Amino acid sequence: MENKSDAHIIITLIITFSVSLFGILWISGTLLGVWDRFWYGIIRKLFCKYFIYKYMDTDNLTPVSKRRLTLVKKKTLFLDMDETLLTSVMIKEDGTPPSTKKCRSKYVPCDFEFLLQDDTRVKVYKRPFLDYFLDRVSEWYNIIIFTAGTEAYATPILDYLDGGRNILTRRLFRDSCVNVYGFNAKFVSLVCPDMANVILLDNSISECSFNVNNAIPITDYVIGDWDTELLKKLPFLDALRFVQDVRSILKRCKVLNAPSSFIEL
Ligand SMILES: [Mg+2]
Repeated sequence: MENKSDAHIIITLIITFSVSLFGILWISGTLLGVWDRFWYGIIRKLFCKYFIYKYMDTDNLTPVSKRRLTLVKKKTLFLDMDETLLTSVMIKEDGTPPSTKKCRSKYVPCDFEFLLQDDTRVKVYKRPFLDYFLDRVSEWYNIIIFTAGTEAYATPILDYLDGGRNILTRRLFRDSCVNVYGFNAKFVSLVCPDMANVILLDNSISECSFNVNNAIPITDYVIGDWDTELLKKLPFLDALRFVQDVRSILKRCKVLNAPSSFIEL
């Protein structure tokens, strides 16, 4: 009877000790950011590397599709940079923390960082599958990066993204935007007047509205999100290169019409 009671006490002590140890580890790990570092730094990277959904690596086109491509012009794809391909945070010299709207956790490891001339540190976080996306679309389209950011800010980032592949050589910065009531508006028609063969991929609904018949909106990239938006755009972008006039498809997006007609007034 006594032995049974001793065993009971020992088991209770072991359980209490284990629960306490787990609690202490969990709380200290949360406070020190250990779990976030593990979650975002290792698990999320593995997710991106081994994610099951990928698009075809090579263009295995049928003869009919190949013939079709000879009948239509090669199109130009304008890519916005911030919150579309990546999200960056600026940390001032005084250590002002980044906005929490852009970031799920401050422990997400950045992909690249550099200093601006005024010593502001810029941390760059690539959207998941960005390299894969750029490799694919650069085979299908002429790529132009169109950002409302300044040249001094965007150039180091684009050089890093390009990585010597020479796919992001055509770049337009803030000085190519048009000031519309204080807003830096991108009008792709001013750069490529051949609107049948121009597409803009942008997270800003305003920018999409300025180019209503040629725009594909994409959600903002929030740092640390398990995001597959770039992958999801590939089938659509693949199909669009075969059409005679991209507006025949893209102008069907009526949601963007309202602000655009307001601007035209
Ligand atoms: Mg943007």
